[in-house]
Parts: sequence; structure tokens; C-alpha cells
Amino acid sequence: MVEINREGEVWVFAEQKDGVLQEVTLELCGKARELADQLGVKAAAVLPGANLAKLPEQLIACGIEQVYRVTDERLEFYQTTPYARILCHLIDKHSPQIVLYGATAIGRDLAPRIASEMQAGMTADCTDLAIKDVTDRKNKTVHEKLLLQVRPAFGGNIIATIINFDMWPQMATIREGVMSLPDPDPARTGWVIDEEVALEDEHFPVRLIEEHIEKPTVNLKTARVIVAGGGGVGSKDGFDRIHDLAGALGGAVGASRAAVDNEFIDKGHQVGQTGTTVRPALYIAVGISGAVQHRAGMEESAKVVAINTDRDAPIFSVAHYGIVGDLHKVLPMLVKSLRDRR
Ligand code: FAD
Repeated sequence: MVEINREGEVWVFAEQKDGVLQEVTLELCGKARELADQLGVKAAAVLPGANLAKLPEQLIACGIEQVYRVTDERLEFYQTTPYARILCHLIDKHSPQIVLYGATAIGRDLAPRIASEMQAGMTADCTDLAIKDVTDRKNKTVHEKLLLQVRPAFGGNIIATIINFDMWPQMATIREGVMSLPDPDPARTGWVIDEEVALEDEHFPVRLIEEHIEKPTVNLKTARVIVAGGGGVGSKDGFDRIHDLAGALGGAVGASRAAVDNEFIDKGHQVGQTGTTVRPALYIAVGISGAVQHRAGMEESAKVVAINTDRDAPIFSVAHYGIVGDLHKVLPMLVKSLRDRR
């Protein structure tokens, strides 16, 4: 366990693939900057990899002041053991007070390994973070400026705030897409520190022979318009209406879990707690009740339109515009009027 260091920096694990930073890493840079300002400390990033070219500048432009870079050809693709070794070594050396990871496949693999090795706390899948003074109810002590780690719990039915009093560093994985991307400022300056970490060949137990990457069927994260269908759509054929409206608006097709579970559409389209978190300019929820697990993935959308036969459906509580009606009647009318306008 690392000693509590109130001067410790706020760190982001800078996840990159083939020399390209993951979007969630940039989102976390913005958040780390905000948290570090509240704590009066530096925001830093740990950047391991082989081909890191312009990445430190990109991290700095997004709010990081100090980049700890570890370059090694053998780090070309992610492996748990060497990456965990690097992070543990640097955490031990610099005692950051907070370490943030994207809740990606890599972040979800790496963070618990480090938490276990460092005997630190770790909160998975956070949707928000904040700094606040907290009173420990057990011994009535006030702990200044702790990290509040917010995440859905009990199947998403409550939002829990998790606080780590003494198992430092305070560590969390954060869902992709829940923090806003910072506006990069190329004029920002910072330091890049090349770190040496002793890595032997035995720390690289995996040899990559061939890589097969399945292309995602849809990119909901970058879509400006999403038309999402739910259980109320009723069938796979019924989803043609959702595709029609999405096509007329130049948008992407999303879905609730009920639609995915009923095999109306692939899992890659699912929005929500166990799907993708989205924040498009326009989200149209069609035949979706608006369960808390679905809302968790879309309620940050700039404008929400809900179409539902049930006027009391919870989706209307997060909608800016609502249409109470049968989607099989409403959608063809909408598509026709959009096409006529063209
Ligand atoms: P339903 O609950 O079946 O609702 C259908 C809606 O359609 C109703 O509101 C109905 O009034 C309306 N309707 C019916 N016919 C029509 C019509 N002709 N025209 C217009 N409206 C009509 N869910 C997600 O979506 N994403 C997640 O990531 C997710 N993760 C979960 C994780 C956990 C741990 C758990 C426990 C659940 C999760 N769920 C998730 C499931 C979630 O709780 C709901 O069951 C699900 O969102 C319901 O989907 P739905 O609203 O489309 O379907």
C-alpha cells in the first residue's frame, strides 16, 4: 500500500493502440485537470508503449502537465504483466493520490491487477468523479478533499458514491463517453519524463502471432444523431422502421437491451449501462420504456425525443420532446415528412 500523500499528483493511464490514444484517455485528461486544480496538484499521465511519437504533446494539450513515458519495443501491444509492472513501479516511486483508467478491456484488466499488487482500493465503471471533504462516520474524522467515485450499483437501481479513506492511491476505471472531451489547446506546455523500468523477457509471456480485429458494426460514440429502438418495436422486421428514420436523418441505429435480448438487432447497437454510453446532438428513443440502466447511457444527449404509447413511461422524464403514440404509425409519418422536405 502506498502512503497517503496529500501532495500526490492526479494520474491518468494513457492507453494507446498502434500509437493512437484512446478517446477515453483524452476524456480522462480533462477530468484529471479539473480534479488536480481542486486539489492544487499536478495532473500527470503514464504513457507506456513502443511508438509514442506525438502522444505526449496530445496529452499535454488536453490538460496534462507531466507525462511519464516508458518506451520499449516489446510494449508494442498490451500485455498485463509488463504494463502492471510499469504502473506499480511508477506509483511506488511517485505516490500519486489518484490514478484513473478508462473502463476499456485493457483498463478493466490492468486496474484490478495494480490494485491487488499495491493493496489499493479500486472502483470499477465509474460514471462521475468529484472532490469533497468527507466525514468518516465510524470515527467522526473529517478527511479533506477525497475522491468521490460515483457508479450505478445493485443492477443500476441506485447510484452509489464510493470513498476510499486509506487504501491509497484512490483508483477508478471510468466508463467511456461519460466525461466530455476537453478542447485541446496546442499552446499548453508540460514536461515529458522518460522513465526506466527494468523489464526482462520473462515479463512478456505472450507472443502475438496474428491479430484479427472484428470491425464494429456501428460507431455510436461519434454519431450526431441516434435513433434507438426498444422492446416496443416488437420484431426484427419492425426495426426496419428504426433504420428508415435513422437513414432519413443521416443517423446511427441504437437499441435497448430488450431489443438486443429479443434478437431484433446486434449487441453492438446497445445503449446503456452494459452497452455504449452516448451523447449525440439528437437521441430519438422509440418504444423504449426508459429503465435506469438505459438512461445511464443516453441521458447526457443534447436533445432527447421519446416516442411511446405509454404516456407514463419513464423515458419521458428525460425527454425534451415526447410523442405519445404507436411507433408503427408515427415513424412512417416522420420519415415521409423528412423526405418530402428534401
Ligand atoms: P420494455 O421494458 O419492454 O419497454 C418497451 C416500451 O415500448 C414500453 O415503454 C412500451 O410502452 C413501449 N411500446 C410498446 N409498444 C409500442 C408501440 N407500438 N409504439 C410505441 N411504444 C411502444 N437496458 C438497456 O437498454 N441498456 C443496458 O445497457 C442495460 N443494462 C442492464 C444492466 C443490468 C445489470 C440490468 C439488470 C438491466 C439492464 N438493462 C439494460 C435492462 C433494463 O433494465 C430494461 O429491462 C430494458 O432497458 C428495457 O428495454 P425497453 O424499454 O426497450 O423494453
